[in-house]
Amino acid sequence: MRAIVSINSGSSSIKFAVYRLDEHDTPTLSANGKIERIGIEPRLKIQTVDKQIIHQMDWSDGATLSHADLLEYLFDWAKGHLRDTQIVAFGHRVVHGGNDFVAPCCVDDAVLAELEKLCPLAPLHQPHNLAAIRIIAGLSPDIPQIACFDTAFHHDRPALTTRFAIPRALHDAGIRRYGFHGLSYEYIARRLTELDPALAGGKVITGHLGNGASLCAMDNGRSIDTTMGFTALDGLMMGTRCGTIDPGVIIHFQKQMGMQAAQVEDILYRQSGLLGVSGISSDMRTLSESSAPEAEEAIELFAWRAAREAGALASTLGGLDGFVFTAGIGENHADVRARICHRLRWLGADIDEEANARHAPIISTPGSKVKLMVIPTDEERMIALHILSLLYGAKP
Ligand code: AMP
Repeated sequence: MRAIVSINSGSSSIKFAVYRLDEHDTPTLSANGKIERIGIEPRLKIQTVDKQIIHQMDWSDGATLSHADLLEYLFDWAKGHLRDTQIVAFGHRVVHGGNDFVAPCCVDDAVLAELEKLCPLAPLHQPHNLAAIRIIAGLSPDIPQIACFDTAFHHDRPALTTRFAIPRALHDAGIRRYGFHGLSYEYIARRLTELDPALAGGKVITGHLGNGASLCAMDNGRSIDTTMGFTALDGLMMGTRCGTIDPGVIIHFQKQMGMQAAQVEDILYRQSGLLGVSGISSDMRTLSESSAPEAEEAIELFAWRAAREAGALASTLGGLDGFVFTAGIGENHADVRARICHRLRWLGADIDEEANARHAPIISTPGSKVKLMVIPTDEERMIALHILSLLYGAKP
């Protein structure tokens, strides 16, 4: 049996999914899994499509285990357990494709070298995305690897929304708004076409609200604006990232407070957001369980910032027909969804509190002008569809 594997390699986790292909190249999820807490106490869980755990491993003294060590372990395990399976390709989420990589592509040494140059623009993600490609190339050099870019979904959007108000020459040199979470948004756009074709053809904001968070304004299923910019630091407040900030603050950090660039980067990427404001945790669930006023302030700031940016995107769209919540917070955190929706009442969003509390797929009242939905995202499946498109010409 042929199979393809989607890999989403982050700083402290590696998510993967194995899809078996039938004779028509139709992918069916057969197993997925996650290695998390890499660098602390790595743990691995692999489960079948109906959530039966088929393998589990805890490395309680494994702080020194690298991504390479853990991928090697996974390959050894797969050799024993997927003996009847021939892996025909690996697909990877790659966060930044820059100006040049606007569609999925096969990775070779030259492509890898170009993608390497984009690491400074996505320091939390890109090095880990590329490390996985390099490690797998070493372990199985004959199997094609395909890179799928988070920036690609936003590539065709109106030129106006890609610009910063900086000198033209700098824009021409690539200092522009790219946008991220594209695989997630592409998947949601696709799912919306199946679930509600009329809404999919309208003006919709999708909120990918997870540890990383952004909003995308979609008109007829295409991205026309998004909150992330040149890097995945822009826009919403996130787990540890600050989101949009007065650029004068950065100048102040450096000129008045004497901070080096690496320190500024660390503050903005790793010490800000929910963690920085609460002083407690970057995890929304942990903050919800806390009675500290700083935790409440962080949650409310997150919701306000999301609603504020949604107002801006509604202006780009010239109206709003729907709002889709997705990712860890968007799919699971009813209180945060409610806080955001209450702030969007002026746009015609009317949340059904009972439906929201039980995480129903539609969480607006029948009379709501803006349809409010919860749709689980699936970046791994989107990667799989891109692999099939590239290998066999299937429509993603
Ligand atoms: P992600 O990056 O998409 O995995 O999302 C991570 C965020 O989702 C964290 O802030 C979690 O606290 C939050 N989250 C995940 N699961 C839940 C849940 N069941 N209830 C509330 N928040 C959750």
